[in-house]
Amino acid sequence: MTEPTDETLAGGCLCGAVRYAVSLRRRPPVYACHCTDCQTRTGSAFGLQMAVPEARLVVTGETVEGTHVQPSGAMARIVACTRCLTRIYTTNDQRPGIANLRAGTLDDSASIVPAFHVWVSSRQPWIVIPDDVPAVDRQPADADEWASLFARIAR
Ligand SMILES: [Zn+2]
Ligand SMILES: [Zn+2]
Repeated sequence: MTEPTDETLAGGCLCGAVRYAVSLRRRPPVYACHCTDCQTRTGSAFGLQMAVPEARLVVTGETVEGTHVQPSGAMARIVACTRCLTRIYTTNDQRPGIANLRAGTLDDSASIVPAFHVWVSSRQPWIVIPDDVPAVDRQPADADEWASLFARIAR
């Protein structure tokens, strides 16, 4: 019998000064957030988030931090490369211990398929979400709704 081995997910910023790795038993799902804050923050159509335990995330290289108050009132901390300003992950004070990786910074970002979508009510009109992928009009109401979205994927 062999122990299941952890998968190491690695990624980094555009210029290569910041690298990260996170080792996990199972690859966490990635979800797309179509809120207007994510559109502004990314300068793009939506944010791609992968929630990982902050304690498992090993970041090397010099980073700079920004802060921002989310619509929920949570204070978000944004961690980026000092040189190229690529945003690597965020944390917020209402979800201690969780780091939301910007999933597009993963080395194998081409393998990412969003497992569910949130804030679909403000998605850009050209985006078509597949019928069989869960989509929530706005923010999931509470921790239970988040848990049920993540649970649907696990099966
Ligand atoms: Zn950089
Ligand atoms: Zn968002």
